[in-house]
Amino acid sequence: MSQDQHPARPVFDEVMVPNYAPSAVIPVRGEGSRVWDQADNEYIDFAGGIAVSALGHTHPRLVNALTEQAQKIWHLSNVMTNEPALRLAKLLTDKTFAERVFFANSGAEANEAAFKLVRKYAYDSFAPEKNEILSFYSSFHGRTLFTVSVGGQAKYTEGFEPVPGGITHATYNDLESVEALISEKTCAIVVEPVQGEGGVNPAEKAFLEGLRALCDKHNALLVFDEIQTGVGRSGELYAYMKYEVTPDILTTAKSLGGGFPVAAMLTTASIAQSFGVGTHGSTYGGNPLACAVAEALVSELYDKNVMAGVVEKEQRFLSALKGVNDKYSVFKELRSCGLLLGCEMADKYQGKARDIMMHAMDNGLMVLIAGPNVLRLAPSLIISDDDIDAGIALLDKAIQSFLDSED
Ligand code: PLP
Repeated sequence: MSQDQHPARPVFDEVMVPNYAPSAVIPVRGEGSRVWDQADNEYIDFAGGIAVSALGHTHPRLVNALTEQAQKIWHLSNVMTNEPALRLAKLLTDKTFAERVFFANSGAEANEAAFKLVRKYAYDSFAPEKNEILSFYSSFHGRTLFTVSVGGQAKYTEGFEPVPGGITHATYNDLESVEALISEKTCAIVVEPVQGEGGVNPAEKAFLEGLRALCDKHNALLVFDEIQTGVGRSGELYAYMKYEVTPDILTTAKSLGGGFPVAAMLTTASIAQSFGVGTHGSTYGGNPLACAVAEALVSELYDKNVMAGVVEKEQRFLSALKGVNDKYSVFKELRSCGLLLGCEMADKYQGKARDIMMHAMDNGLMVLIAGPNVLRLAPSLIISDDDIDAGIALLDKAIQSFLDSED
């Protein structure tokens, strides 16, 4: 049976489960921060595959790492370890607070491992009743049943009940709400240093410091979900370094593979003891191809001083976005943590972030939203100044056409 090599968007509705509503545009090629679709239309990419393409598209060092490893060995299973996994784990432990690494394939799986580990650690070290996980409203931790339950957005658990128990939610950036819920039964607090999906809301430093102190007081573990903020995006390798608050467990995915699926849970040697042989696992976790790419990516961040550039590019984005907003007043607030930027829609345009995203696409610019009211940008960490300026000019046009359509 011959297959159409260039299927178009309507095929999606014929053969895919309808849980996504992808745009009509099907990109087929990318280089740096530029992408081309089936009709060879060019786009500037401010979306980065939702904070994934940290070094843009088809970065030569990543292509090399992948193709070199592809010539050697693709898969072994965890019955054996492999060289890329060992090198990557060594690199991550050298560069962070962590002493031990567990590899997974997606953010949700890294978090699933973290949530299981906090319970197992409390079970081993304290008592079985110490099993409550405290998380935050508007947080997002993935789509498995455990991770949607820890995530604080009812719309993602509705219809999937019964959900796992022993999970409570406090208000982000509100320590008093945490104090009211934490107890000796709490085994962990789970928090994103910046709520990404929840609207690009950065934590206050005092809030994260307060969580650290509360965890220490109640013998609970502090888990940072850095799946969106990690791997250089904040301007440090991980945002905890910027906040100077060290977690006990950190989860990382998205940018770690720059587009190749790989994730990790990082922790200390003593906490890791609770994941003894046979307690947890993953067929693909620690796959040699994935680890080879991630090792190349993290090495590139240091070799090319990418993190320093992130802070400069953040300022360039912020001043350009401010310039656009001075002209149109569509946003009421600009928020950022490195190259994770959120533009909150003005009251007059509540619920319209998606409209701007669609106008941007029509004008050759890929952007994201974070909920109905926030336009989100998560570009490559090495996007050139020229691409930033050109993309902002497209955003300007997109907002103009959005406003025209509102009249
Ligand atoms: N945690 C955070 C903070 C995220 O932003 C995401 C994805 O958006 C996830 C977890 C889930 O990651 P994945 O989609 O790779 O499972």
